[in-house]
Amino acid sequence: MPITGRLIIGYESVATAANFRAVDPTSGAQLEPLFAVAGAGDVDRACRSAAAAFDQYRQIDLAVRATFLDTCAANILKAGDELVERASQETGLPLARIQSERGRAMSQLRLFAEVVRRGYFLGLRHDPALPDRKPLARTDLRLRNIPLGPVAVFGASNFPLAFSAAGGDVAAALAAGCPVVVKGHPAHPGTSELAAMAISNAARECGLPSGTYSHLSGNSNELGRALVAHPAIKAVGFTGSRVGGMALMKIAAERAEPIPVYAEMSSINPVVILPGALRARGDAIASGYVNSLTLGAGQFCTNPGLVLAIDSPELGRFLAASGQALSAVGPGPMLSAGICANYQRGIERIGGYPAVSSVARGASGTGSQAQSALFQVHAPVFLASAAMQEEIFGPSSLVVVCSDAEEIGQVLEALEGQLTATVHLEAEDHAAAAKFLPVLERKVGRIVINGWPTGVEVCHAMVHGGPYPATSDSRSTSVGTLAIERFLRPICYQDMPAELLPPELRDDEAGLLRYPRLVDGEFVAHGSMTRNLK
Ligand code: NAP
Repeated sequence: MPITGRLIIGYESVATAANFRAVDPTSGAQLEPLFAVAGAGDVDRACRSAAAAFDQYRQIDLAVRATFLDTCAANILKAGDELVERASQETGLPLARIQSERGRAMSQLRLFAEVVRRGYFLGLRHDPALPDRKPLARTDLRLRNIPLGPVAVFGASNFPLAFSAAGGDVAAALAAGCPVVVKGHPAHPGTSELAAMAISNAARECGLPSGTYSHLSGNSNELGRALVAHPAIKAVGFTGSRVGGMALMKIAAERAEPIPVYAEMSSINPVVILPGALRARGDAIASGYVNSLTLGAGQFCTNPGLVLAIDSPELGRFLAASGQALSAVGPGPMLSAGICANYQRGIERIGGYPAVSSVARGASGTGSQAQSALFQVHAPVFLASAAMQEEIFGPSSLVVVCSDAEEIGQVLEALEGQLTATVHLEAEDHAAAAKFLPVLERKVGRIVINGWPTGVEVCHAMVHGGPYPATSDSRSTSVGTLAIERFLRPICYQDMPAELLPPELRDDEAGLLRYPRLVDGEFVAHGSMTRNLK
């Protein structure tokens, strides 16, 4: 399928006067074609079209919604090598990584299709009427979750397929029943368009209304600002910088009708290595650490940017082994010149602290290639410099040397909110770990034991979230099926006549027999209850 460079507004393909080009970050070469820059009028049309589609899209049979998500996955596969090659060219990420990311994008769409079919997300509840209850009768009360309305999704630079035009936020919002308007990331506009065509074509094939999905490209803040400010938009999904996420949150909060922004922004993902683990397998931990840190040039939100351990000869050996492994790491291509410049500024900043020493550097590169970096500092200095915990997006990490377990606890307590925390431990470390766990539970969204935070499983029990600044709302996740809840709200029907109830709340085959619900607080699996059935 040729890349057109046009906007996708519902089922219309739209050219604009203003244009920009994609850049191959490995060579700096500009790529064909020219891409449209969406203006305020285009944003307005896409958002109005989404609003017009909302009631029809949300009320189609859930089986059709599920088929739509499966068709999106099938169409991504159909986009073939062209999609994979373009994504690699626009991001500098190797083909193998892009292929596996395509698999993830498809599997999360299919997983959400299954979620839609099963209907748990509807959150159905029924408290039947109790006309004879004394002193007051109870009315018939039924609850279900309904979608919020059109959702604006910002494509992420670091996941051109799994977190962009056809990525996790889009899958969750469409599964919830929300039309989506995507603002593609300007670093991979061709990839974004191809993925968007897969979704748009699936919508058409499934007979969905035109505004179910739109895709806007552009390369300035104005587009994103206009999108979040548009009155038709009812929620926002974002992955990117803290500055960008905060700017969008401010716009959303200052609207006549404020809306939720689910922004995933910055995290340094602390790793605690307890003494027993360091003694038992320091070398293996060092090797796993450097692999996780330098994977994909460190451009993962779960990158282990901070390590805490107690001063000891074993820690010295661990630092030496980590340094040796890191020195052998070649330069990694970064997603864009801007991201590479940010990384360079970050390591110059951290390396510029007099009390921070360099443990090792990887091989240096050219252009937009990142040189890996490992630093160390003593805990009292870290505790006195809040800026040391700012995320450096890329393959850089800081080891904080603590005098004892109590000091590890103090550092953990001083940390901002994080996506993950990892603890390496042996049985002898369990007592120390038990003391940190309550702190970690307050600080992070996922606690990893004896593993590495990179590599986020897309499943039902995953939390890819956490307190600010990891995300703007710690009550949710952006990876895994729980993400659907961000785009839903509960509504209660009191004494609603049966024929006016939404199908899933009726006591017939469309409702009680098809979807699970809580009846008087008791869980009733679908099909397992025949009470009230005529
Ligand atoms: P970004 O600059 O925050 O941009 C993300 C998206 O938001 C882009 O579409 C951008 O588009 C838009 N945007 C940014 N600021 C905006 C604003 N003030 N108003 C309206 N829209 C805005 O993130 P990035 O381009 O992915 O990377 C830049 C830096 O973000 C990285 O160096 C890294 O530090 C951080 N980052 C962190 C993670 C993470 O997972 N923790 C992931 C990716 C990036 P326009 O530029 O076209 O407006």
